[in-house]
Amino acid sequence: MGGTPIIILREGTERTKGKGAQEGNINAAMQIANMVKSSLGPRGMDKMLVDSVGDVVITNDGVTILKKMEVNHPAAKMLIEVAKVQDEECGDGTTTAVVLAGELLKRSLDMVEANVHPTIITSGYRMAAQRALEKLEKLGIDITPDDEEMLREIAHTSMISKIVSSSRTHLANLALKAVKAIAEESNGGYKIDLDDVQVVKKSGSSMEDSELIMGVIIDRGPVHPSMPKKVEKAKIALISCALEIKKTEVDAKITIRDPTQLSAFLMEEERMLREMVEKVKKSGANVIICQKGIDELAQHFLTKAGIYAIRRIKKSDMKKLAKAAGARIVNSLDELGKSDLGYAGLVELRKIADDEMTFITDCKNPLAVSILLRGGTTHVLDEIERSLEDALNVIAVAIEDGKMVSGGGSTFMELSMDLRHYASSVGGREQIAIDAFASALEIVPTVLAQNAGLDRIDILIDMRKAHMDGKKYHGVNVFKGKVVDMLKDKVVEPLRVPKQAINSATDAAVMILRIDDVIASRGAPPSSQPAPGKYDIKGEGSEFDKEWA
Ligand code: ADP
Ligand code: MG
Repeated sequence: MGGTPIIILREGTERTKGKGAQEGNINAAMQIANMVKSSLGPRGMDKMLVDSVGDVVITNDGVTILKKMEVNHPAAKMLIEVAKVQDEECGDGTTTAVVLAGELLKRSLDMVEANVHPTIITSGYRMAAQRALEKLEKLGIDITPDDEEMLREIAHTSMISKIVSSSRTHLANLALKAVKAIAEESNGGYKIDLDDVQVVKKSGSSMEDSELIMGVIIDRGPVHPSMPKKVEKAKIALISCALEIKKTEVDAKITIRDPTQLSAFLMEEERMLREMVEKVKKSGANVIICQKGIDELAQHFLTKAGIYAIRRIKKSDMKKLAKAAGARIVNSLDELGKSDLGYAGLVELRKIADDEMTFITDCKNPLAVSILLRGGTTHVLDEIERSLEDALNVIAVAIEDGKMVSGGGSTFMELSMDLRHYASSVGGREQIAIDAFASALEIVPTVLAQNAGLDRIDILIDMRKAHMDGKKYHGVNVFKGKVVDMLKDKVVEPLRVPKQAINSATDAAVMILRIDDVIASRGAPPSSQPAPGKYDIKGEGSEFDKEWA
């Protein structure tokens, strides 16, 4: 090899190896978890995020907080990924997943410092996760779409940290009815595509005025002010072509020399448009929704025929309309027949907060529905929307999987207890990691209690005792301030929420732990500290971490 050093990396490349790299990554990821910790649970606090142009977001939603932050550190980004995956898979439990991942990493830091090899830690974590997921399946409680009360409670649990309780009931009801309307039975189970629930926000009025529309809301009124404002028993034609005279492909010039020719020309145009409207009339439609434009003269004829017409509708709205009203979108008026028409009990023009909107409602068995959300200011409305989305998601997930579990940290505590037993049955050093995993799971009830201002040690001791005595649904009810049966208190959530949280938290922790070499080219942020983002939130819970170390 000789004495000359061989340089294979570009000048300025920074390289951290071994323990240094691991600790740097773990610390960065833990900071992310600490940021969202204080927002977990019904007593969690909100965060106000102000971006560079001064836009404000006030939220308690883990994934929203993390998405809004501009984090640069690669390991910190992996934790944000955990939140995103959780959000995609379940639509809820994002804070839980991130806090759990942070805790797994924190526990591993102690082991790394005590010279336990990362391979041992990761294999122990994998074994623990596997066991926890098996146990979790056994803890699952069956639920069907007919268990409406429980489904509503699941929605309640997901929304409780976000909005005042009075409207929670109302929103949970809307969400339940919406999901049940669009749930499709497929080989023994249910398939739910939440894209079929359109959420329309309008600030003003109050949350209680939010409503479910068995159909679609379109953000415009009829093309002509003299058209009817309301059509009952509407027969709806969905047309993707324009009701206009087509322009020729090439630039043509028509020279008219004589006034009679001019009138003949105009008459011909009129005749063509009249014919188009005749075709609509003949089909029996009294509402037409056109993806493209409608000529002024055609508007006039449609008005005379008493037809409610809307033009220039988004393609995605056309598809929703087709699903809601049971109509077929036709792309030429010649094709339009009776069987293509959809049905809605009522098509109506409504003025909401000064905007004209068409409500296509009372559809028969609609496969797409809409929720009109109302509420004070836009900031409030945005948070209501996030809550509603959580509610829609948890109901959908619970129906799809047909399983739920008890909340308030009870499930995590039960899993933790089981893992401790399991750890003692596993020989070798992995036992230490499994034990650490078991302790990490206790972070959920611990933080829930802490955020509620309860004594977390008392709560944890009570909870451990309850679970030791076989009370597997006992968790901390933060409103009562004590450990109780969460199933009786109806704090329930879909099984998929803790399942996904454990899965993605373990994956992220293992992935971060396996890195022992960080090679960053110039310009990349240093590995030990996250680069300052646009938002500067101090990592909370650090005091708390010290105490629990
Ligand atoms: P996430 O982003 O993880 O969904 P949330 O802030 O929505 O975080 O909090 C969810 C947690 O709050 C769940 O663990 C749930 O069981 C818990 N929770 C809900 N209601 C109660 C309650 N009354 N007492 C204690 N914990 C509760
Ligand atoms: Mg939640």
